[in-house]
Amino acid sequence: MPDGTADPRRRVPRTDTLLADPAFAAAVATLGRDRVKAAITTAQDRARRGEITPEEVRDAAVAALPRRTPRAVLNATGVVLHTNLGRAALSATAVDAVVAAAGHTDVELDLVTGRRARRGRDALAALAAAVPDAGAVHVVNNGAAALVLAATALAADREIVVSRGELVEIGDGFRLPDLLESTGARLREVGTTNRTTLDDYAAAIGPRTGFVLKVHPSNFLVTGFTSAVPVRRLATLGVPVVADIGSGLLAPDPLLPAEPDAAGTLRAGAHLVTASGDKLLGGPQAGLLLGTAELVERLRRHPLARALRVDKLTLAALAGTLHGADTPTRAALHADPAGLRERAERLRDALGVEGRKADVAPCASVVGGGGAPGVELDSWALSLPARYAEPLRAGTPPVLGRVVRGRLLLDLRCVPPAADDLLRAAVLRAPGEG
Ligand SMILES: *Cc1c(COP(=O)(O)O)cnc(C)c1O
Repeated sequence: MPDGTADPRRRVPRTDTLLADPAFAAAVATLGRDRVKAAITTAQDRARRGEITPEEVRDAAVAALPRRTPRAVLNATGVVLHTNLGRAALSATAVDAVVAAAGHTDVELDLVTGRRARRGRDALAALAAAVPDAGAVHVVNNGAAALVLAATALAADREIVVSRGELVEIGDGFRLPDLLESTGARLREVGTTNRTTLDDYAAAIGPRTGFVLKVHPSNFLVTGFTSAVPVRRLATLGVPVVADIGSGLLAPDPLLPAEPDAAGTLRAGAHLVTASGDKLLGGPQAGLLLGTAELVERLRRHPLARALRVDKLTLAALAGTLHGADTPTRAALHADPAGLRERAERLRDALGVEGRKADVAPCASVVGGGGAPGVELDSWALSLPARYAEPLRAGTPPVLGRVVRGRLLLDLRCVPPAADDLLRAAVLRAPGEG
């Protein structure tokens, strides 16, 4: 055929034409013209090589655009603090604070006097106000950093006395004993895996003792013939007691009676409490240090403190978490099962109207994130055939549930009620009955 249009390469859409398409015009605004043009050129080249048809160029170019990352995910796993999903979701107040802090901010400036001010003083003041039992507070990068700072400043070249039953692995292969020894401190292990007594500690204490460390076993349970020494009794030993409570609960939560809180641990006599910001406190990744003014000041002035310093976004998120109303973490933990069941039933009915058959099933949520092992919270899920799992995970937004005995359970405990419509739409977009 002499007709030139028979050559498919001549039907490859022109760059100008594609750039005028709303999908690319919007992308230019966020990604910049060069990146968008590069995606278009790549797709055009593939068509010229015959790998795709000219008609597929537009979609291939859209798919080649750099993805917006990170992607916001709907957590229907029933795990409130899911480490792989970033642990705590921030509250609206914390999110607003992060957005405000994204530009230039008064993180280290007093706007009244125009002079330099203590970095992150709002966040620190809010933390101190939330735990009046603390003489002083400090914030570092995460719970592990809080321990490293304490060990370095208080026990380098000295001994940390700790129960064998509390030398735990905190996840991803990281072990507390290795972390502590990396500071130059030596561990003086006392007792056995299941039983440690006050006498065990007392016998190990001497002139080389830096402090006694009490670690909350936050990701496992020891049951049976066990005994551990509470902070209240360790505080009688006459050396500093550092308590790693893990979860970051500032005050007790009746729902989680086995989780120690910062205020109670300080009142029991701990000289220093370390905790994470993104577990039960429901804030950003951070390491909280609360304790006597003397010890906290020593940590704060130690040269290593500068290397563990948190950025302005973390400080903003922490202040927002502490100032704001309920965090999503707390809301999820305290969600009423009857309300979760109603939402699941409404979703099931709405999907039924669209010809999608779903069920409602009772299930159990967990705290996760290395907190409150053994605690199960009654919950309700939308139950779908397991083949929904993959398309929902790959969708936009990605929806993560868990597959139990051939069914995909979408536990509503950690899905904000305002996101139920998103969830319904995501299920409707997944391929229907086969
Ligand atoms: C989670 C946890 C840590 C580590 O805290 P990160 O904030 O993850 O660094 C240390 N100790 C205990 C007891 C924990 O539960």
